[in-house]
Amino acid sequence: MHEDCKSVWNKCLDVIRDEVTEQGYNTWFKPVVPVHLHNKTLTIQVPSQFFYEWLEDHYVDVLKRALTIVLGEGAKLEYSVIVDRGPKQGIPYTVNLPGGNSNGKPKVNNPFQLDELTSPQESQLNQNYTFDNFIEGECNRLARSAGYAVAKKPGITSFNPLMIYGGVGLGKTHLVQAIGNKIKADLPEKFVLYVSSEKFINQFIKAVQNNEIQHFQAYYLQVDVLIIDDVQFFAGKERTQEIFFHIFNHLHQSGKQIIMTSDRSPKELEGLEERLLSRFKWGLSADLQQPDFETRMAIIHNKMAAEGIEIPGDVCEYLAYTVDTNVRELEGVLISLIAHASLNGREIDLDLAKQVMKNIVHDIETEVGIDYIQKTVAEYFNLKAEDLKAKTRKKEIVIARQVAMYFSKEYTNHSLKSIGYHFGGRDHSTVIHAVQTVNDMLDIDARIRQSVNDLKNKLKIKAA
Ligand code: ADP
Ligand code: MG
Repeated sequence: MHEDCKSVWNKCLDVIRDEVTEQGYNTWFKPVVPVHLHNKTLTIQVPSQFFYEWLEDHYVDVLKRALTIVLGEGAKLEYSVIVDRGPKQGIPYTVNLPGGNSNGKPKVNNPFQLDELTSPQESQLNQNYTFDNFIEGECNRLARSAGYAVAKKPGITSFNPLMIYGGVGLGKTHLVQAIGNKIKADLPEKFVLYVSSEKFINQFIKAVQNNEIQHFQAYYLQVDVLIIDDVQFFAGKERTQEIFFHIFNHLHQSGKQIIMTSDRSPKELEGLEERLLSRFKWGLSADLQQPDFETRMAIIHNKMAAEGIEIPGDVCEYLAYTVDTNVRELEGVLISLIAHASLNGREIDLDLAKQVMKNIVHDIETEVGIDYIQKTVAEYFNLKAEDLKAKTRKKEIVIARQVAMYFSKEYTNHSLKSIGYHFGGRDHSTVIHAVQTVNDMLDIDARIRQSVNDLKNKLKIKAA
């Protein structure tokens, strides 16, 4: 029996509808257009790269099941992406169905997989991060130009190591990858290696288990440009620090370039050995700050242009004004905006932007907001959230209040002033004092340390 792609897809939809929520169905399946059926391969068209990734991340199993039911074993799904800025532009992504056989691996997988240390000298870089699409502004001028200088002359400038630090979503990973990509483009003979510190730690643990430390070290010693992301995670990992120290020294002495990022300045890095910290200070540390209004405008324009979308001036201004925390969040808003516009077939205008923001602001606030922290901390200490805002100076309440302030500072973007305000209109100096006190107690008081750790775990579940 001959079946066309439309009827096959409709049958799939019947299966899918039973398995996903109505909203999920309307958002992620209705906009999909079946375009082609050849043998058992169905090609579907999706509105964007983001859309494709979302389907793959959230619904791959449902899709697999539906296709296998409708087309039988050996069914395959191909995606055709309408707007695509990725390097694989134009090539449909193929996913074999069902998984399990040796060629059942999706072609698009995590590019940073480096579990084989014997693997050839692959840089593990993401080519989408370049200097061209890293918008310059006051907030990143020093870091960017130092990075550029290093990219032009790796290992030769005095910026060695180069340490880029700053809060989450401010462009650390983007910038250091841009450096790596530029070096690779200009000096292809150089072995550039990007690795997150977590991956480095895991590789090292594995090397220890398998008695392959020599091998691990030897691999890293071949590198000409070593980029290690988020070195704050080395904190407390003494053996990892030790091996990194050796690798660092060896590379540095041989004129190899080392580039690192961290979520705080070397001065503030805790749990790292002094000798390692002092190495970090040999070169240059440059910070990334929150982008100012103009930079946010430029970033919005640039990202939208990359998607082939022209964004009206008033919408751009509105977004730049409203989303002032970090670039990652800004990007999230733009993605939602694009998704809403394409799913509803609407123009991007101020109304739509406001509507999207309303949902998102809600999400951000219901993630880890001060309210949630207060509730969680109060519960943990058997108090009411109100107690934390009240005037009382009872000792156990004071401690709980200080811990809640400490977490508000750690986990939210609220200013000290705003945190004080949420704790019964206290002054910002009270918040500073609270954070300081908790930090001090963490060093000397095991019970507080335990409480803070427990709470961290509780709060993180939500922050993730
Ligand atoms: P971090 O590593 O500091 O947490 P990332 O480098 O992952 O932040 O940046 C978060 C997102 O914001 C990325 O998608 C990145 O491309 C984007 N981004 C950050 N800074 C800029 C910038 N100056 N220009 C363009 N995009 C940026
Ligand atoms: Mg990062």
